[in-house]
Amino acid sequence: MATKVENVIIIGSGPAGFTAGIYTGRANLEPLLFTGYEIGGQISLTYEVENYPGFPEPISGAELVERFQKQSERFGVRLLFERVDTVDFQRWPFRVISEEGQEYQARAVIVATGASARKLQVPGEAEYTGRGVSYCATCDGFFFTDKRVIVVGGGDSAMEEGIFLTRFAREVYIVHRRDQLRASKRLQERAFRNDKIQFIWNTVVDEILGDGQKVTGVRLRNVQTGEVREFPTDGVFIFIGHEPNSAILRGQLALDERGYVLVDRYQRTSVPGVFAAGEIADPRYRQVATSVGQGTMAAMEAEKFLAELEDKAYEEVAREIRQELEAEGLLVTA
Ligand code: NAP
Repeated sequence: MATKVENVIIIGSGPAGFTAGIYTGRANLEPLLFTGYEIGGQISLTYEVENYPGFPEPISGAELVERFQKQSERFGVRLLFERVDTVDFQRWPFRVISEEGQEYQARAVIVATGASARKLQVPGEAEYTGRGVSYCATCDGFFFTDKRVIVVGGGDSAMEEGIFLTRFAREVYIVHRRDQLRASKRLQERAFRNDKIQFIWNTVVDEILGDGQKVTGVRLRNVQTGEVREFPTDGVFIFIGHEPNSAILRGQLALDERGYVLVDRYQRTSVPGVFAAGEIADPRYRQVATSVGQGTMAAMEAEKFLAELEDKAYEEVAREIRQELEAEGLLVTA
């Protein structure tokens, strides 16, 4: 039996994926959306969201995801509560194979697999995530007004977010495993100048401590002297890098050196007919609002692409897109 060819398959259920679903669903394209295991992605781990327009009162990350889901289902998005195992974008229609081994085909694909904050992988980290452990100062900084927090990491993110946290926290301790920062000189200088920030050098967090409800401290270890001590804190902000969830995309789409999908300003990837939106293609902004915007753009571009296929063969449409991508310098080999 011939496999049905879908109009559009969306991979990922964060703000970008659901938004792409809402738009393509509303355009009667009957999208198929793979949610992955964590519906909602990173936002589902966020305690409260208060900078997403339209919600003057804070909304929990979980509730926002629930609303995205309901709204997408209202427009006929078909959700598959599964992960994608393999994609084949080298031939058209594109192939997507689920972890259960089922093959799906589509004329267009929107990739919205997001990124994950790198974890410390120490005891207490998972238990207290959202209860004192955070990976997003913009999201959670406000909840630490007049409190003591530690920031783990020595890169640009740790400095930038540490500086941001001084707007709220009484004191910010940056814990770094070496005695030199990786961050740019400009950010280092701003952090050194800030009198709310202190540094704890050559030190790692071995454990995050709590009272069962929330974080109360950390166990620190000096990697040079071996000295171990308990350090009281209300919050632990971890900024040791992000990792794009692009394992299934390697060899399929052009990625940058860190593994993020390269897109042009229309969210087009190096393969005509495959679009990417949200953090998988955006290491810079990482906000619900920007992911929603990119999901909208990807959906509208997918619609336009599918409309062109009504009059022309895929190869013809693809050739035109490739020429534009080439002119933009995006068509590097994956
Ligand atoms: P990053 O540059 O990779 O820095 C990660 C930091 O975490 C490093 O200091 C690293 O220590 C530390 N680290 C890694 N694994 C660790 C572990 N298991 N335990 C303890 N510490 C650990 O990541 P990032 O700061 O998120 O930045 C990512 C990229 O975005 C960079 O290219 C950065 O320049 C860019 N960015 C730019 C800006 C800006 O320009 N305003 C802002 C944010 C990010 P070591 O130093 O010892 O390796």
